[in-house]
Amino acid sequence: MTVISVLLIDDDVLDRRLVKHALADAGGQVKFRIESAEQLAQAEQKMAKETFDVVLLDLGLPDSRGIETVKKFRAINAQMPVVVLTGMEDEESAIEAIKAGADDYVAKGKLLKDLIVRSIRYTIERKKTELKLRLAKKQAEELQAETELVNKQLQMSIERANLMTREAMLSNQAKSDFLANMSHEIRTPMNGIIGFTEILLDEELAEQQREYVEIIKSASDNLLALINDILDFSKIEAGKLEAEAIEFSLESLLRDITCLMKPQADKKGLKFDVVRGDDLPETMHSDPVRLRQCLFNLLSNAMKFTSQGHVLLRLSSRQRDGRSFICFAVEDTGIGIPKDKHESIFDAFSQVDGSTTREYGGTGLGLAITKELTRLLGGYLLLDSEIDKGSVFNVIIPVILTSANTQTTPETEHGKAWSQKPTDVRPTCGKVLIADDNKTSVVLTTLLLEKLGFEVTCVADGREAVDKALAQTFDLIIMDMQMPGIDGYQATRTLREKGCECPIIAVTAHALEGDREKCIEAGCDDYIAKPINRDQLYEIVGKYVQKINIAENTDMQLAGVYAAAENKHD
Ligand code: ADP
Repeated sequence: MTVISVLLIDDDVLDRRLVKHALADAGGQVKFRIESAEQLAQAEQKMAKETFDVVLLDLGLPDSRGIETVKKFRAINAQMPVVVLTGMEDEESAIEAIKAGADDYVAKGKLLKDLIVRSIRYTIERKKTELKLRLAKKQAEELQAETELVNKQLQMSIERANLMTREAMLSNQAKSDFLANMSHEIRTPMNGIIGFTEILLDEELAEQQREYVEIIKSASDNLLALINDILDFSKIEAGKLEAEAIEFSLESLLRDITCLMKPQADKKGLKFDVVRGDDLPETMHSDPVRLRQCLFNLLSNAMKFTSQGHVLLRLSSRQRDGRSFICFAVEDTGIGIPKDKHESIFDAFSQVDGSTTREYGGTGLGLAITKELTRLLGGYLLLDSEIDKGSVFNVIIPVILTSANTQTTPETEHGKAWSQKPTDVRPTCGKVLIADDNKTSVVLTTLLLEKLGFEVTCVADGREAVDKALAQTFDLIIMDMQMPGIDGYQATRTLREKGCECPIIAVTAHALEGDREKCIEAGCDDYIAKPINRDQLYEIVGKYVQKINIAENTDMQLAGVYAAAENKHD
């Protein structure tokens, strides 16, 4: 049974009795508990003491009359369900009462009994629904406010992330610039050390002197390798390393590797061999420099971590998804690698344990570079190793590199023709202008070029280079790009603008991606990085001066050579 508590506000005794009578036998499952008040003030006191489900409100009270009564009641209680009791023919004021805040009205009279129960229950239910709706609306508003807050936070997070990305890009740029500068700073003195050591080794030396010079050479080679490792790794990190795809002989690669590795193995009393499997192709179409670097890294590690037994390079051919691969397995009988380090040693700067560096040296970059290079070559690197038994690193790469990440560079005819030792090079009588502010570099390059039979003129800055090159005829200009005042880029641009057609070889200690393009863009024909490698210098000089020799220096033929050189600029 539902009990509904009613506050009946009416000063008329008869009316009150009428209402009570109407509610007394409501029937069904409802029972009414009725409290009465004769005026608003009294009603207010009662409502303060107890809670009612509904108020029946007469509009004509001693302390208030008409619509004002509803307004005053709403001022006392805004939520309470209110049914107004009106006179029979007074529909107008009933409507006004509803506008003023009443929930329903019932006319006193014959139909009161039939209508009042329904009106009360309907009013209570409607009020409950209204309350629920209001609550739901409030919750929806709160939810919306919360969503707006989350959206705002999200927007702020996006802005922060964008800012951080911009900052990261800037700091990456700063890192690249730092690397470029570092590389320049380190390569310039290395240029002098390595170059003069090589020249010293060509001289007559006492046995002990030769030993010392060879130690200097080996230490500076190691230092250069370390610088190259750091540069390579930075380029890989920046995604700037690219692989070439050229055809080369597998056998000549293996011969090179044997020449490098055999003496090292002999020195340590290790057996070294290259074991060739069946069905190996004669040539491969990949990047021989990068592949050599991978195998050299792995073989050097194998030699380093093996004190007895053997180091082998096993080659086998494999087929996968209709493509041919070659597996280069570098196998050693050395200290092995614990299973729990099989993954982490491929991370940059990681070694099996800290004592490795103390005992064997190294930076922990070799495997990280090798893994990335193998990927660049379209292949993968696998490890199988057991502690105290030895290790096998498998470099598996496609015989034909088809990756979009490659540049195809055909081997030039001149590239081979001049890769000879200086003594094999036939003397030429060309004139070379060297523009370089670094004394050591100038002396070294001069010595190397004089050995070829060149007549060398040297200047120390870009302005002098421009003046000299315009005043005299040279067969070749070697231009250092980083000079004080007018640098090599500006000097080259000026020379080209003024119609100079002489081949210009840029020399720069910057060995980062994009430097070559920058030099070519300025008008240089070719590019060589410091420290100048003697064979590389001769090879590159040969590319340009050989043409002049063939032309036998006749003016007419020279014009043809220069025209060819000019075409290259276009
Ligand atoms: P580095 O040799 O300069 O330390 P690497 O990245 O080439 O750096 O090698 C990382 C580590 O992996 C080495 O320090 C060594 O602990 C381990 N390692 C690599 N190759 C071998 C190997 N053939 N035998 C045993 N341990 C090896």
